[in-house]
Amino acid sequence: MMQLPKLTGETAVFGLGRSGLACVASLVAAGNQVVAWDDRAAPRAQAEKLGARVRDLTEDFATPTQLIVSPGVPLTHPAPHPIVLAARALGCAVLGDMDLFSMALEASGLRDKATILGITGTNGKSTTTALVCHMLQSAGLPVHMGGNIGTPVLQLPLPEASAQNTIYVLELSSYQLDLNRQLHCDIGVMLNLTPDHLDRHGDMAGYARAKQALFENGKCQTLRVIGTQDAPSREMAQAHRHENLITISSAPSEGDIHFAQGRLNYGAGETLDLQNCAALRGAHNGQNAAAALAIGQSLGLSDAAIANSFESFGGMAHRLQSVAHHGALHFVNDSKATNAEATRHALAAFDNIYWIAGGVAKAGGISNLKPQFANVRAAYLIGEAGEDFAQTLTDTMTDTMPDKMPVAISQTIDKAVSQAAEQAQADALSQATILLSPACASFDQFEDFEARGLAFQAAVATWVAAQEKGGAA
Ligand code: ADP
Repeated sequence: MMQLPKLTGETAVFGLGRSGLACVASLVAAGNQVVAWDDRAAPRAQAEKLGARVRDLTEDFATPTQLIVSPGVPLTHPAPHPIVLAARALGCAVLGDMDLFSMALEASGLRDKATILGITGTNGKSTTTALVCHMLQSAGLPVHMGGNIGTPVLQLPLPEASAQNTIYVLELSSYQLDLNRQLHCDIGVMLNLTPDHLDRHGDMAGYARAKQALFENGKCQTLRVIGTQDAPSREMAQAHRHENLITISSAPSEGDIHFAQGRLNYGAGETLDLQNCAALRGAHNGQNAAAALAIGQSLGLSDAAIANSFESFGGMAHRLQSVAHHGALHFVNDSKATNAEATRHALAAFDNIYWIAGGVAKAGGISNLKPQFANVRAAYLIGEAGEDFAQTLTDTMTDTMPDKMPVAISQTIDKAVSQAAEQAQADALSQATILLSPACASFDQFEDFEARGLAFQAAVATWVAAQEKGGAA
């Protein structure tokens, strides 16, 4: 656990998810007066057990000196949360766990023994964070991963005083960046910026400003890595063009490191082959690997060591995760594709796709995926978005497709899997991919994208077991 300094006055913690509880634990351990609140009784009880007092801050805010909020609490849009307004009215600082992490490092006197990497972007944050962590670990470097992925930052250990620099690889969401005032990363990656979370940031400009906070005020002095595939990211790269910038892209001939035909191209005609990197399939993963290559080179790793670590990278659950093969059928779980842009890359990564999509659609639905529909043999739609997506697909087919693509409103994931697999088997192609890549949030039918991915895997396992029992191959 990170040792925090003793802060003046009372510290309020609002929102007791995993990172909120980690804040409570670290604050209490440093002898702070902590008051905590969450709508849910179970985490309130946990906070009390950790030594916080429990007070309904929405009813009785009183006068804490600082307020630690979870990243889910709106600061500006659609409207500032009443607790944020109460804090502002009292001049009480509103902070997040990244600020506390920064305070802990400064107070330890070991900030210069830490190299902090912050990774953000609309899509690809988790994959790139995990890949970079794996690459650095494979090189034998002391590394910790946390933030929006895995372990809350305050549960990570402080840097070793004696050893070489400890590297912190942090996935940072736009909500965390919006909240953070104090943490200065040494190396920052901004992968891409396409519309998402606009309700929380007001509009695209507000969303871009939140991401831009990673680099502003002299942050990320050692290295800035910025994708150049979309206009908002290109603008950001342009603004930092004289400042230790490496641009990356999954489009050929764009960016200092770019992906083309299965390879990363960089430097004076050098290349790194990604074709044997099973977990880095698709051009989007080319962009993620380009970010990792830029970081690895900047930290002094050899290109050979970087390439080996890319090959041994195991990938991440629910992101283009290969979950089963049965005869010519390959089942792929991309449940983490909660927006159309993420699904675009999944549809581009395979052909002969039997596509399972749907859930709670984001603005714009799937209409901008038309260029990728040529890879889809049939679509099986689930959840709230079913009818709308069916309409989009039907409209598109009459426009552009020579053959009619069957579209079924399957409603549930179980039915979608069996319908898709049976159709794929009947079509008897030499290879086919049954792909869950929903382009939607999951909360109409599932707790979260992980539950959705697990439901897909369970349905696949049931279908495959039934086939094997029936003797089909
Ligand atoms: P995040 O943590 O930003 O949500 P993930 O690595 O979890 O990103 O991937 C989420 C989804 O986005 C997956 O469906 C994946 O296929 C897709 N994806 C991954 N990397 C990229 C990228 N660089 N550009 C666009 N889509 C990506």
